[in-house]
Amino acid sequence: MIVACPHCSALNRLPAAREATAANCGKCKKPLFMAVPLELTSANFAAHAEKAELPLVIDFWASWCGPCRSFAPVFNQAAAELEPRFRFGKIDTEQQQALAARFAIRSIPTLMVIKQGSILAQQAGALPKAQFYQWLNTLA
Ligand SMILES: [Zn+2]
Repeated sequence: MIVACPHCSALNRLPAAREATAANCGKCKKPLFMAVPLELTSANFAAHAEKAELPLVIDFWASWCGPCRSFAPVFNQAAAELEPRFRFGKIDTEQQQALAARFAIRSIPTLMVIKQGSILAQQAGALPKAQFYQWLNTLA
């Protein structure tokens, strides 16, 4: 399984038997899973969304968006509980306007799951935790 490092974006190949959450990056030696969402930018997006083999769950958000702020704890909790089945990342649509434009994000929060460059699912608006988990469970 190919996993992108949340710190340096290096691609790591993990043997299936190895406990993924305990693995460190071969390049920067930091943990490959931090149990928190990572900050996605145009610099690290391709590594996580296209080259890595884990489904990437993205939260498109902005600091001025109330529903985004209320959904943030649910998203954080999902990262803590559902890694390494998924990788969780947040895209600040104010800072990363190119990524927001590329995916034609019109309302936030928008949730999206991408695996190796293909969009598996997309959802406009936040979900309560149970429904969010249910939605993810149908995808991986
Ligand atoms: Zn690294």
